Amino acid sequence: MKISCIGLTKIFFLLSVSLSLVFYLLIPWWQYGLPKPHLLLACNLTCTNSYREPLLEETRNPQQGHNQSDLFQEWESYSVDAESFQSIELKDGLHVRQPLQIEDLFIAVKTTKKYHRSRLDLLLQTWISQAKSQTFIFTDWEDKELRQQVGSQMVNTNCTAVHTRQALCCKMAVEYDKFVQSAKKWFCHLDDDNYLNVRTLLELLSAFPHSADVYVGRPSLDHPVETVDRVKGDGSATLKFWFATGGAGFCISRGLALKMSPWASMGNFISTAEKVRLPDDCTIGYIIEGMLEVKMQHSNLFHSHLENLQRLPLNSLLQQVTLSYGGPENRRNVVRIAGYLSLEQDPTRFKSVHCLLYPETQWCPNRKPPSSMT
Ligand code: UDP
Ligand code: MN
Repeated sequence: MKISCIGLTKIFFLLSVSLSLVFYLLIPWWQYGLPKPHLLLACNLTCTNSYREPLLEETRNPQQGHNQSDLFQEWESYSVDAESFQSIELKDGLHVRQPLQIEDLFIAVKTTKKYHRSRLDLLLQTWISQAKSQTFIFTDWEDKELRQQVGSQMVNTNCTAVHTRQALCCKMAVEYDKFVQSAKKWFCHLDDDNYLNVRTLLELLSAFPHSADVYVGRPSLDHPVETVDRVKGDGSATLKFWFATGGAGFCISRGLALKMSPWASMGNFISTAEKVRLPDDCTIGYIIEGMLEVKMQHSNLFHSHLENLQRLPLNSLLQQVTLSYGGPENRRNVVRIAGYLSLEQDPTRFKSVHCLLYPETQWCPNRKPPSSMT
């Protein structure tokens, strides 16, 4: 068989291109602080893999308390467009991932007059101290002491101080409007009996682009809610949707929050909740899954006192995003941290968690935590 001169040139050309490519991929880019290139860069940025990396980091950590395969599946189905990728351009045209900053968060804490001292003070002393300017306290009473302490971070919603669907939806409506007015990328709602680990929250949200439709939290039930569709339909059909339980905290991206506006902004949240006759957190799920057909991202890094908190493994406590504690009827439902601060000193265990996360805190006991916790 004869090989022409042109044929030989072609073969040489292809061989040299392939060798250069192999050589390029073998350069130890990580030594220069640059991300290792991979062939996926060649495909368009809707590749789900672009967002797998942070999760892969998480799944490698054996201390994680969540179900890794569940989370992995969530990421598998997650896709983003090129514009929403938060990146910065280096001089040579390379793009690197820009981590989410604490300033990008809008954290809303729902509280009420009777819990300012008994619950809120503990939060101010612990995690809120790490996110002072990002945390807004939504309450129903003009508390002079609290105003002095936190200034404009306290929002008096003027909603009635009762535990009814209407009063709670009234607060959620104010939280939503206040977030939309802010220029923040993420809205996170918490109850006043939640501990928030700001670091792990940032890690979790960094994996998602804020301009995409993201609703992340813990479902309170193991099945979706089914309700009569009185908003979109004529009330003859039913709608099934998941919702994130407010008692464990949840987050919504700015992109999605803006899309919720027809059902949530300027008093519309209250009328939507009235129409469907659902509590505040349920109404959020109804708008997102039911009306906008956006799927909630289920995460078991969020925790309410509806679950048995004692069961949370010790070595995964500091990896969780939120924690909680049982009310007066179930005081023993707290996370297990033994041998640091006693149950008398720290009945909710929030102080112990805080001291493990921020040992430099001035009021933390000046001694090393048990080695099993580090
Ligand atoms: N809450 C409120 N108004 C009330 C009672 C409670 O805004 O009249 C808030 C409370 O501050 C908390 C949330 O609603 O952030 C849930 O309240 P709680 O933990 O007492 O009840 P749960 O529903 O968790 O059993
Ligand atoms: Mn509660």
